[in-house]
Amino acid sequence: MTPDMMCSTDLEGRKIQGDRDPSSEMLMHLEVYRQRPDVQAVVHAHPPIATGFAVAGIPLDRAVLAEVLTTLGSIPIAEYATPSTRELPEAVRKYIKAHDGMLLANHGALTVGTDVYSAYYKMETIEHFAKISLVARLLGRENLISREEVMRLQGLRDSYGIKAPAPICADEDLPQDQAACQVVQAPTSPGSRLVPDVLGQPSDPPALARGTWASFGEISPKPSAKADDGEIRLTYRELSALIEEAIRSLR
Ligand SMILES: [Zn+2]
Repeated sequence: MTPDMMCSTDLEGRKIQGDRDPSSEMLMHLEVYRQRPDVQAVVHAHPPIATGFAVAGIPLDRAVLAEVLTTLGSIPIAEYATPSTRELPEAVRKYIKAHDGMLLANHGALTVGTDVYSAYYKMETIEHFAKISLVARLLGRENLISREEVMRLQGLRDSYGIKAPAPICADEDLPQDQAACQVVQAPTSPGSRLVPDVLGQPSDPPALARGTWASFGEISPKPSAKADDGEIRLTYRELSALIEEAIRSLR
């Protein structure tokens, strides 16, 4: 595609300039601009890993990556709708007020932003997040970030100047209105801290500053350190030894 193939329309979808017709998904784009006056760009694509989650019906809403929680919050799935029909903008409308990115069931993904690069990078973030989630699920374990930590990360939005369209829902046990807040799955028990307290209170050094570590449950040989929360931390050398031992026992 080259720039001369593009066309412009007004907010009713009437063509203003260009030789070609607008995208068949124009109605979805226009609906986003109507619902979100702050949005200046919409990106719609079919990135394969994120679309795999959309096909499997698995939203990307678990508290797993700090940068995703601070930027997009959660990535829900808009219900399936026939592409290019009026159904699709209807399906998107339910989530677009509170989310800058979403999956479209059995179809693809949608992101928005104050400019086209911001929307584009959010699309890249969703696909990156989907890849990491896929690998973690293949490995058979996802260590979720605690709700307390999720709320702390949300507090960082202001300091980074991130203007999220809605807050993360405070309590996941209550029925959620996904037009008002972002549903994030996070355990309520206090867990490890990734960032210092944003309220400016004195706090422990971030867990990640202590060096490279991995959490491995009950595996021998004996780990070098066991934290109070039951998490086992290993050095690279110990981790390599564990992997070598596991490979030997497979043979
Ligand atoms: Zn599409």
